[in-house]
Amino acid sequence: NLQVLLRRRPQGAPVPEDFEVVETAIPTPGPGQVLVRAHFLSLDPYMRGRMSDAKSYAKPVALGAVMEGATVGEVVTSNDPSFKPGDVVMGGQGWQRFCVMDAARLRKVDTSVAPLSAYLGLLGMPGLTAWVGLEDIGTPKAGETVVVSAASGAVGQVVGQLAKARGCRVVGIAGGAAKCDFVVKELGFDACLDHRQPLDPQLDAACPDGIDVYWENVGGHVQEAVFPRFNDFGRMVMCGMIAQYNIAPGADAAGAPPGPNLGPVVRKRLRIQGFIVSDTGWGRYDAFLAEMTPLIAERRMRWREDVADGLAAAPRAFIGLLQGENFGKLVVRIG
Ligand code: NDP
Repeated sequence: NLQVLLRRRPQGAPVPEDFEVVETAIPTPGPGQVLVRAHFLSLDPYMRGRMSDAKSYAKPVALGAVMEGATVGEVVTSNDPSFKPGDVVMGGQGWQRFCVMDAARLRKVDTSVAPLSAYLGLLGMPGLTAWVGLEDIGTPKAGETVVVSAASGAVGQVVGQLAKARGCRVVGIAGGAAKCDFVVKELGFDACLDHRQPLDPQLDAACPDGIDVYWENVGGHVQEAVFPRFNDFGRMVMCGMIAQYNIAPGADAAGAPPGPNLGPVVRKRLRIQGFIVSDTGWGRYDAFLAEMTPLIAERRMRWREDVADGLAAAPRAFIGLLQGENFGKLVVRIG
């Protein structure tokens, strides 16, 4: 079995030496278990958190253990009547080619709705994140202005298109002209602003009626620019703050992004609420799929993937994810 292990905990930005690629024996499934061969591995920002032993909502990956991550693939052998060899499934685990899973944790997927790798992005955890955050916190109404940061990424792509499908004016924020172009021309957002250019004049032009919903994926200077433009009763979906993930604990404040002035939360009766997709999302997966499936069939939902080739390329691709090098949902074709 080909595996990527966590060799040491990164200080600041991860480097290739934090990982180790090893060959081990293929595991054998026990009763009620299934051996899955992964075809694609998802790389996601949360993995930076799992590499650290700082206290968080989830346990860190142990040193020497296989890196945590979702995979999609096919059943090789099954000791459970609900799966047979050749079934195509989501729910695989780890930066590795083969994994043994309890059958209850796997779900068959329909590759006629979307290709297999899409079950790591659009129809996987990131897409579900977008849907849950909009349903529970963003609650966008037709005619409202929705701003989405990291707009070309795995979560941002779906947030913006769902908000468009619900009749909102949708403004993305992304890094660089190529990403912004894609967000407007391919995904159909009304505008997309480049956070590497001064944001204040761009926001003034793109959001003349203020901002009703802000989907927060990055924090830092983007959050600082968006914040004063909230309308009364605005909603800020606190999904993630990737700009802060590589800041070492106790780091000198000089390296840290600017913090927001949260004063308007009180004055404008804003509701800011964090959430973790796994708390309630998977229990509502069917409702999510019911909204997504027709949108995909009618080509009203588009997506972009960034595919790294070979499991050994995973560490480098993951490091790039934290620096904006991925363009779209990042997955690894395991081969
Ligand atoms: P993306 O596919 O959007 O990839 C990350 C993107 O973030 C990069 O491409 C880059 O886009 C942007 N970025 C990276 N570093 C910085 C930085 N220092 N400053 C500003 N932007 C940066 O990732 P996902 O869609 O998977 O995740 C987006 C966010 O959602 C993350 O914060 C993640 O932690 C969070 N998340 C939260 C979940 C939850 O349950 N709450 C579940 C899933 C994701 P650009 O070049 O456009 O800036």
